Amino acid sequence: MKYPILCQIMPPDLLKQLLGQVPEEEKNIVLRTIIIDSKMRERRAIMGSMSSMFPLAGEKSICIFDSHNTKDVRSSTKVRCLNDDKADDLSANEAFHGLDVTYNFYENIFGRKSIDNNNMSIKGYVHWGDKYMNAFWDGAKMCYGDGDPNLGIKSFTASIDVMGHELTHGVTQYESGLEYWCDESHHPGALNESISDVFGSLIKQYALNQTAEQADWLIGQIFTDPNLALRNMREPGTARPNDPQPAHMRDYVNLPNDEDHDNGGVHINSSIPNKAFCLAAIDIGGYAWEKAGQIWYKALHGDIPTDCDFHTFAQLTLETSKLLFGNESREHRAVRKGWEAVGIRI
Ligand SMILES: [Zn+2]
Repeated sequence: MKYPILCQIMPPDLLKQLLGQVPEEEKNIVLRTIIIDSKMRERRAIMGSMSSMFPLAGEKSICIFDSHNTKDVRSSTKVRCLNDDKADDLSANEAFHGLDVTYNFYENIFGRKSIDNNNMSIKGYVHWGDKYMNAFWDGAKMCYGDGDPNLGIKSFTASIDVMGHELTHGVTQYESGLEYWCDESHHPGALNESISDVFGSLIKQYALNQTAEQADWLIGQIFTDPNLALRNMREPGTARPNDPQPAHMRDYVNLPNDEDHDNGGVHINSSIPNKAFCLAAIDIGGYAWEKAGQIWYKALHGDIPTDCDFHTFAQLTLETSKLLFGNESREHRAVRKGWEAVGIRI
């Protein structure tokens, strides 16, 4: 296992925007999330290393716990495990469904057994924190805040792609050494984020039985306004007001590589490989996980440099498409066209 990352689904720029918009008396709720998030990032190495302390399940194992609006996992109570009846709590049932579909997707489509491919037990903690406006996988468990509908943010258990996104960070952590930062000529963090968006979206499409053309390609519909999302893979920059994501390499957002600037814009520039995948999948047609998803999954297992740039990863997906489907096959050409459309010539 490589060094674990801690990704919270709400990008830091959005929490800062929200802080500027909410009424004075509500600012504390947003501020609390920002403070918890920065403390969590400091603790990521400790939390990630805890995963080895959890016993291997041996077979599929999913359990949901209720944290009763605290951050204390020891006082959390078990509410639903595999083969149990539905719980009385909507968040617990949504979280269970999302983790169950994510497990089934990876097993049925890629033959993968849980995050580590060794049936690591998957634990989810709902009602985590007090009106906490985020969700994250810390290397050992998935935690979901309730959000605050008064501030326009729903419970984070409502979006299946959020769970798929977060658990895929675990898969990436086991399969590649992609680091969590970006600069002008290295993009490992944005690739890491994009891989989570790609498989998060595929998991949603799998759950809804949608083809690439039918899919909405939205990530994180966590707002009470159903027209808003965190990211739009098909049309980056249109998911929400002030959406900072570029749709083309010429608009790459170059930011300092520090936590105040999203580690160099890992949640911002991820839209470039996101769009390349989306266009390739639509061009190939059918269910996106059957061909485009296979290409990306196999590429993830390839020889990816820890400081990989977009061009190197694009080349890897092109070679993989040729290997799986043949030279100048429809899939091979679609992958090349997808990358070219976002300004990456391979
Ligand atoms: Zn992420």
